[in-house]
Amino acid sequence: MNVYDGERMAELMAAEGMTATDDPDRADLVVLNTCHIRDRATEKVYSDIGRLRKNARVNERTAPMIAVAGCVAQAEGDEIVRRAHVDVVVGPQAYHNLPALVASAAAGTPSLDTDMPLLSKFGALPARRRVGPSAFLTVQEGCDKFCTYCVVPYTRGAEVSRPFAAIVDEAKALVDAGAREITLLGQNVNAWDDDGRGLHDLIRVLDRIPGLARIRYTTSHPNDMRQGLIDAHGDVESLMPFLHLPVQAGSDRVLKAMNRNHDTASYLRLLDRVRAVRPDIALSGDFIVGFPGETEAEFAETLRLVDAVGYAQAYSFKYSPRPGTPAADMAGAIPEVVMDERLQRLQAALGRDQQAFNQASVGRSCDVLIERRGKLPGQMLGKSPWLQSIHLMTDAAIGDMVSVDLLSAGPVSLAGAERVRVAA
Ligand code: SAH
Ligand code: SF4
Repeated sequence: MNVYDGERMAELMAAEGMTATDDPDRADLVVLNTCHIRDRATEKVYSDIGRLRKNARVNERTAPMIAVAGCVAQAEGDEIVRRAHVDVVVGPQAYHNLPALVASAAAGTPSLDTDMPLLSKFGALPARRRVGPSAFLTVQEGCDKFCTYCVVPYTRGAEVSRPFAAIVDEAKALVDAGAREITLLGQNVNAWDDDGRGLHDLIRVLDRIPGLARIRYTTSHPNDMRQGLIDAHGDVESLMPFLHLPVQAGSDRVLKAMNRNHDTASYLRLLDRVRAVRPDIALSGDFIVGFPGETEAEFAETLRLVDAVGYAQAYSFKYSPRPGTPAADMAGAIPEVVMDERLQRLQAALGRDQQAFNQASVGRSCDVLIERRGKLPGQMLGKSPWLQSIHLMTDAAIGDMVSVDLLSAGPVSLAGAERVRVAA
């Protein structure tokens, strides 16, 4: 979602006549779009600000104007202005005001906007113009679930769904601007609803947009996984066979302490229902190790769950206490060395499963959406329906869909060979 927000902020500033640069040391304005989900992401903001200023001194140029956007801006507000003397602080629900905030900072007043008006930002953003073959589209934001470790409900605010028509319009604009794949985004994207219509109704309408070949969505929550969405996986051809469904832990006691409101058995039953309609679905998840009080036996239950599911890929994190969340005050902090060791074991298991999943694809053929050039001349990179990275030699262009035989599997990608061109 931060990638999506970053693109939208760049489009806003482009409408003001600014041009984007990849070199922060040449920029007049640097927008740091920040993440507050774990402590390390937050600390990075302050070190980035320090580095930008230092480079300006070394290069003997005026330091760029610095705007801090995103969830660190939302959570720390004034504190950032005090601690780092930045020019603009803007929260994730207020960034449509970025041009005005920059203008006022340019006139000499540091400016701050961390208001959370519901949805007004989307209406104030410029139309989508040029995008790559795979584009993001935010359909839902915020969270009402209040898992005890998580800052999202505080930084992104309450669950809000964008209206059906606005999403369909943006999807059409994205396709006109070059997208062949759209990933629908939300903190709990499957909680999206508009007047009784759910995410599956939206997907079925998007499926009919000419030129849109692939639809994905992320991140979904187990408790919002309705039968309609499961059914869509069985019969909507453009809905890709991939499901990111975080579970966080394999111990029911830990899940309860996390306030997840699901247990491992209900999670596994859900996956069975999805696999019943789409047996080849690639599963992905999120895991936290070292939640306060997590015992070795409880952690072993996470490893067992991983074994039972066989994920195609997954993300795993060490628990990071976040200010203001209930878990931050819980007893039983797990020492860093124990967390490190658990994370290592978990990632070894997940890595093995990812490799096995990729290995099992060898010998199959599938469509690959070409997304960018590879390192070698003539080599292109793209994604399989199961979100695997595929590299192949081809004269196909970025945005082409090619039919590919999968030849061999590495730990994180596969090599393929082109069969016949499906579409130009
Ligand atoms: N809404 C999604 C997840 C969004 S946050 C869901 O609940 O499924 C993305 C991931 O960051 C979470 O799934 C979790 O694994 C991780 N995360 C969130 N807060 C964390 C914390 N305090 N410490 C470590 N990992 C955290
Ligand atoms: Fe955070 Fe996801 Fe839980 Fe919401 S459901 S509080 S975003 S982990």
